[in-house]
Amino acid sequence: MTDSHNPDDIRETLGLRPVINVSGTMTSLGASIVVPQAVAAMTSILPQFVEVNDLQKKASPVIARLTGGEAGFVTASCSAGISLAVAAAMTGNDLAAIERLPDTTGLKDEVIIQMGHVVSYGAPVDQGIRLAGAKAILVGQATSCYPYHLDGAINERTAAAVFVVSHHTVQYGLVALKKFAEVCHARGVPVIVDAASEYDLRIFLEQGADIALYSSHKFLGGPTGGIVAGAKDFVRNTFLQNMGIGRGMKVGKESILGTIAALEAWEKRDHAGIRERETGYLNLWQQTLAGKPGVTAVIEPDPTHNPLDRLRVTIDPQAAHISAWDLADALAQGSRPVIVRDHEVEHGYFYMDPCNLHPGEEAIVASRLTEELGKARASNAIISTPVENRYTRRMAGLMRWPD
Ligand SMILES: *Cc1c(COP(=O)(O)O)cnc(C)c1O
Repeated sequence: MTDSHNPDDIRETLGLRPVINVSGTMTSLGASIVVPQAVAAMTSILPQFVEVNDLQKKASPVIARLTGGEAGFVTASCSAGISLAVAAAMTGNDLAAIERLPDTTGLKDEVIIQMGHVVSYGAPVDQGIRLAGAKAILVGQATSCYPYHLDGAINERTAAAVFVVSHHTVQYGLVALKKFAEVCHARGVPVIVDAASEYDLRIFLEQGADIALYSSHKFLGGPTGGIVAGAKDFVRNTFLQNMGIGRGMKVGKESILGTIAALEAWEKRDHAGIRERETGYLNLWQQTLAGKPGVTAVIEPDPTHNPLDRLRVTIDPQAAHISAWDLADALAQGSRPVIVRDHEVEHGYFYMDPCNLHPGEEAIVASRLTEELGKARASNAIISTPVENRYTRRMAGLMRWPD
């Protein structure tokens, strides 16, 4: 196996495992590789005092230029953006009401969301709504929602509607954004779109969102942060929440400037070149897996149409001598742990995401696949632990933290 001891790797000094991220932009793995322009920007501002609201004024036109919104600012995370935008929809620019939250006495406090959008991205979407003091009003059913559900839920207490764009949500049977916005706007209800992990910075505002929210630390390769973009008054009222519930979601000067730099770098990024490199990784892994007993590897497009493909690796435990989840766990062990995308692994497959690799890691991933599949084939028994045990083990580990 490739030995890539690297004395410059901070993880070695810290005693942390040098994980290779083949799962995508995961908060639990440190989100993404921060682009050098953002690292430099953050380093330059960290020792300096700045008037932070003025720095946010510098973020606004950059966010506006890239998103097509009228204004924007940077907050702690996309998740924070949900709570702040919901708060703004309730309080407007009433500073006393902003300070009173999450007490919503006298305010409109209902926020509509399609049931099929109430997912967990590591925390529940509806909690982001409730944190502001609002009530999440779930409309439709898990896999079906019609405009009449939406329309029927709007009343004089409705403050806003939240729309989530994500592979986590139900991908059929729900109201699409354009129609969603049309129904909401006809009743004077503003629409907040959680587009945390989407590449297209313009389309959701184009399709009727009043505010679109993105993560700085996902595909943009920025520092941990959230981007709020949209209609100027609504963005301002969202910004004003920094004097209220937003205080606990504070973003530092380095993340504001780092996000600006990441956005500017995104404008100039060689998107086609990166796609080509990623396709090369996928082809390498697919070739590595070709002909291996019990393994089927297919390149699939991203479910929410981001310009990104992933390799879906389906495992037949009888032929491969290992289950998909035991293989995922085996890959995550050893001196070069490879973390695959395993949200749906109980179905017998996982994905390999090429978008967060350092050059050279793709070859280590290929050799780890060969190594672990070879070990499994050589075993007489079929390695297949009950999938529920995996969850139990993870939870037990979490409940022991920090031990
Ligand atoms: C990642 C994600 C979030 C959370 O974004 P953060 O910036 O990490 O808070 C919210 N919604 C969706 C759909 C996500 O994918």
